[in-house]
Amino acid sequence: ERGNRDEEQVPGAKVIAQALKTQGVKYMFGVVGIPVTEIAFAAQELGIRYVGMRNEQAACYAASVVGYLTDRPGVCLVTSGPGLINALSGMANANMNCWPLLVIGGSCERSQETMGAFQELPQAVRSSMYGRPGACYVDMPADIVDLKVNVSSIKYVECCMPPPVSMAEGSAVCMAASVLRNAKQPLIIIGKGAAYARAEEAVRKLVEQCKLPFLPTPMGKGVIPDNHPNCVGAARSRALQLADVIVLFGARLNWILHFGLPPRFRPDVKFIQVDICAEELGNNVRPAVTLLGDINAVTKQELASKNSLPMNYFTVFYHVQEQLPKDCFVVSEGANTMDIGRTVLQNYLPRHRLDAGTFGTMGVGLGFAIAAAVVAKDRNPGQRVICVEGDSAFGFSGLEVETICRYNLPIVLLVVNNNGIYQGFNADTWKEMLKFGDATFVAPPLSLLPNAHYEQVMTAFGGKGYFVQTPEELQKCLSQSLADTTKPSLINIMIEPQATRKPQEFHWLTRSNI
Ligand code: ADP
Ligand code: MG
Repeated sequence: ERGNRDEEQVPGAKVIAQALKTQGVKYMFGVVGIPVTEIAFAAQELGIRYVGMRNEQAACYAASVVGYLTDRPGVCLVTSGPGLINALSGMANANMNCWPLLVIGGSCERSQETMGAFQELPQAVRSSMYGRPGACYVDMPADIVDLKVNVSSIKYVECCMPPPVSMAEGSAVCMAASVLRNAKQPLIIIGKGAAYARAEEAVRKLVEQCKLPFLPTPMGKGVIPDNHPNCVGAARSRALQLADVIVLFGARLNWILHFGLPPRFRPDVKFIQVDICAEELGNNVRPAVTLLGDINAVTKQELASKNSLPMNYFTVFYHVQEQLPKDCFVVSEGANTMDIGRTVLQNYLPRHRLDAGTFGTMGVGLGFAIAAAVVAKDRNPGQRVICVEGDSAFGFSGLEVETICRYNLPIVLLVVNNNGIYQGFNADTWKEMLKFGDATFVAPPLSLLPNAHYEQVMTAFGGKGYFVQTPEELQKCLSQSLADTTKPSLINIMIEPQATRKPQEFHWLTRSNI
């Protein structure tokens, strides 16, 4: 651009470097030569790290991995012709890996007059990062690199925003949750897409809350540490072969995963595919559910749908486990409450888990809890006793709450309430059932009164009672109960009455049965 002679002028190379910096670029790899050398100098001057390599191929590989490791694309700087040709391997590799990369190549002078300066650059950054990430090439004619422009004529386009986050369709999320819930041998496969998406936090939560085994792909390793107890990496082939439901988090069913086909997979395996790239969904296999969106966002959607109310056993125990003091006594009885609680609630000391025992006796819990609290008074004052009861189990010795209150033992009693023995019904279904006849004829023998307020047994004797229906309420009441060492408390936790099972047909409600 010609202009005012008094005005400060900068060469194109500096403008290019500043434009890169404005786009958040921090690393540049390359092999300099005419006409791009000046760009490398200018970049360094602005605080962009420049690493000179020996071959454009290596430079391009290096730049591409920056895009994977940081949240902005790395830049590969190459000269025209053979320089660019050498960089092609790196560009192809970045594309195949779905990693953002910016390659800037110098080329011969433009024959025509000035083009619209550097608008292409921000666009290139954006298209390398948005959607499925990949390589992007910007061609820099030699005369642009050398061109002097007036400072006032330069406009840098603001750093492009991080990629917009897309979520999956709600009904697909519910469907995925239901397919996963009904799996007998579920498996999570964690690919480098999950690593790129920085989804470690969300994916780990899902794995832990749902107790799911996971298998990392080679570069998916470390999203959740390899030494995590749920990692089945050591039994990869078997895990793949036995799984009946597989969730793919940013891993393609390509050769690395044997195309998702038998004999490496069950012929009837159901895939739940999570990917940001629509074209990838349904590649090689017909998935049971496809979730098009960002892994991080979709995983959170899944978690939210899992956390839908009422809670289930896993949600309850997950939140309980989070807060339990490591040295506490865990007393437990019930059917599902005790079985599922045994796997989720951890013990770190010997003789600190007390449950229905060899004889499978219901009604031992409160007595055990009282004794543990009395023994703790002598040995280790301040040590807590947590008594986790099913609602039916609680019934066998519920009135010992009076004993607990009489001696003011700060036991924390949790009643995991599903309105029944093994399972019950919600209040509406209960009401519907009673329309068919007297309760003694029609109420399923497994049912207990829906929404019984067992916490009032505690308040009746001066302890603290809580009725909770959401994870948030549970967290709050549990932390209050654990903080209070002066009083016993009972938290009545309402869960899904049919929590461990698929919805059943109420066959006894059909007229022909009555
Ligand atoms: P691996 O080799 O570890 O199996 P792949 O390269 O086969 O991993 O798969 C990575 C997948 O992750 C690609 O299909 C890509 O579209 C997808 N991906 C990349 N970023 C995201 C993201 N933020 N959210 C969802 N999927 C993503
Ligand atoms: Mg893959």
